[in-house]
Amino acid sequence: MKIGVLALQGDFEEHIGMLTQLGIQAEEVRLANQLDLLDGLIIPGGESTTIGKLAVDFGLLKPIQDFGQDHPIWGTCAGAILLSKETHRSQPLLGLMDITVERNAFGRQLDSFEADLEMGPPLDTSESSDPYHAIFIRAPIIESVQKDARALLTLPDGRIIAAQQRHLLATSFHPELTNDDRFHRYFVTLIEKPKA
Ligand code: GLN
Repeated sequence: MKIGVLALQGDFEEHIGMLTQLGIQAEEVRLANQLDLLDGLIIPGGESTTIGKLAVDFGLLKPIQDFGQDHPIWGTCAGAILLSKETHRSQPLLGLMDITVERNAFGRQLDSFEADLEMGPPLDTSESSDPYHAIFIRAPIIESVQKDARALLTLPDGRIIAAQQRHLLATSFHPELTNDDRFHRYFVTLIEKPKA
């Protein structure tokens, strides 16, 4: 199995490090033809407008949209924004997931924060799962999920911070900045799943 990490801007190196620790072959992706040899793709955190513009300049937007039709893609933070259909702003998007996202939803007061969250199935199937320590940095909220997109993890107040639509995954926080590899392992299960 080989997973690519879009390496135009943002914290792609941390994702590569996490995948490597899991014993998975990982590759920085900057060219469309690299997608041909990948089983899945991660779009990292960073600045979604910058990543989007660079993806357009590098001729990657359409190839990633095509790749996402039948391959797992996971977007963290800015990556989740890029996967969404709607952000209430004008910016290049992949529009692969039927989710509406509000950028920088926590405002200036709460630029960054961390939260311990309950994590049950399907993310953690062990009998007593430890709380998940989520790191938010100028994070978006997944305002709503539509069609067959569904909420996967919420804050205690009900706001959605992770969503899944078949083989597509969006998290508004940064699992790659922790030592907790449960989200990376969950993404791997999406790749291993036989295609419907
Ligand atoms: N605020 C950024 C954006 O709107 C995302 C921040 C992040 O990826 N940590 O693109």
